[in-house]
Amino acid sequence: MTFLSSWATAEEARAYLRGEQQKIDDRIAGGRRFVTAARRDGRKTVHEVTCPHARRYVDLDEALDYHIRNGSITLEYMIRHGLLPSSDGCRLMTRDEVELLTSYRKCLACAPDTLHQRKDFTPQLDVYRNQTKMMNSEQIGRHIYPLEGHYEGGRIVAITHTFKHTDITTDAGETLTFGHGSHVMLRAAKWTPPELTKENN
Ligand SMILES: [Zn+2]
Repeated sequence: MTFLSSWATAEEARAYLRGEQQKIDDRIAGGRRFVTAARRDGRKTVHEVTCPHARRYVDLDEALDYHIRNGSITLEYMIRHGLLPSSDGCRLMTRDEVELLTSYRKCLACAPDTLHQRKDFTPQLDVYRNQTKMMNSEQIGRHIYPLEGHYEGGRIVAITHTFKHTDITTDAGETLTFGHGSHVMLRAAKWTPPELTKENN
């Protein structure tokens, strides 16, 4: 997000919004043709970016009008308080990224070609939350459920910490990368790979 001074003029704010809009348009042109909107119950609705119901999520002028109307505030107020919409708030996704969400509803109006009408994921009771940067060999063998990630997850076979992130490899052969602030869900019950069991015997 580009920095905008809280003393910016309306003209500067409009230029800033055009720049942020360009970033959104570039991402859409790059193939991210779905956008998610958070519902009141916290679930996500998936729209095509062209959906009339999704306009205020992909069009910053629409977003600005919405906030001004809905909050009974002025453009100047939004500038002073750093409330202008930005490209950061726009949740654009590819179809693959949509399917990685643990739960979603598809919009009935634009009916995007997602795999599910509605997808739900209820973590099991024996699943606990863990900060990725705190993970170590103790977690190898546990089933991982990335919070915003794969539905199935997988068993952890390797954990590598780097300066900026943590890479977790699963038995599905996937390596998931998490920033240091990330959390994942892990199943408490541990699974021992057959080859290790043999070695231990
Ligand atoms: Zn829609």
